[in-house]
Amino acid sequence: MGLFKSKCVRCGTESTRNKVEGLPTCQGCELKLQIEREEARVCPVDGSQMQKKIICNVIVDKCPTCNGHWLDEGELLLLQNAVNSTGNNDFATGFIAGMIIA
Ligand SMILES: [Zn+2]
Ligand SMILES: [Zn+2]
Repeated sequence: MGLFKSKCVRCGTESTRNKVEGLPTCQGCELKLQIEREEARVCPVDGSQMQKKIICNVIVDKCPTCNGHWLDEGELLLLQNAVNSTGNNDFATGFIAGMIIA
């Protein structure tokens, strides 16, 4: 990890120490890359193809038909850790608000 922040090569606006494949990439752009690379999921309820949304830096699959939101196990842990580490429910509240709006 470098000491100095570099401009994100993908959006050219954010400064970041984060790197993806050796190129400075901000967290937002890294998430977008992940979304592009993940395969679209199919809703277990109605079989619709789900859309990926970023809510509080977590990728969530949203079904356009039943409005259900689905999290991977790892994403759920990420959410739990964030709530535990902040020691308050602001993150969870923000996340749930994001789900309703998204
Ligand atoms: Zn960026
Ligand atoms: Zn559905």
